Amino acid sequence: MNQAAASLEQRWSKLVTALRCEVAALDEHEKGWISARLAAIALLQEELHACVQAYGSEVVCAGCPEHCCGQGKNHPGLVNLLFYLLAGEELPADFSAPCPQLGPAGCLFPPARRPFNCITFNCEQVEETLPAAQRQRLATLETALRALYESFASRYAGAGPQGLLIRAETLGAAPFLRRCDKILTKES
Ligand code: SF4
Repeated sequence: MNQAAASLEQRWSKLVTALRCEVAALDEHEKGWISARLAAIALLQEELHACVQAYGSEVVCAGCPEHCCGQGKNHPGLVNLLFYLLAGEELPADFSAPCPQLGPAGCLFPPARRPFNCITFNCEQVEETLPAAQRQRLATLETALRALYESFASRYAGAGPQGLLIRAETLGAAPFLRRCDKILTKES
């Protein structure tokens, strides 16, 4: 492993360890809030994936010389890690790859847990295979999915459009799961 990969692994391990501790300290109400939204995200993402898979996206990707995942290390965010940490599972990672979640057979995250930017991106070649009704369905699913990711971004300091590696630098020592919504009510 080269020096850049070793440094990336170190930063990644540090943030995963910190977030694992924060998740362990969550109360049941907060866990319930997160779990309900993760379940909704998983359903939408599985449908998004199935929509393009039905028109041969995997065949297009397998034969493509471009490397869409080459700069992907900044895509995984708080939401994607919470799937694993809330379930007490280990996160998949390979730091010798251009994106730590890129394995020999593609993304190590299942479609339900993939980052927003990854699951919603379709290159021109894939787009061209889709009928108009399917593209419309994808747009509808993406809108609903974006709203769910935004609900995390409005609630937690560590969520947002940036990946967690970038967010960790902005936050410094502050917790990823610090509530950042302005008014906390009993129902929130
Ligand atoms: S799809 Fe997976 S491997 Fe590709 S950039 Fe996104 S997280 Fe990385």
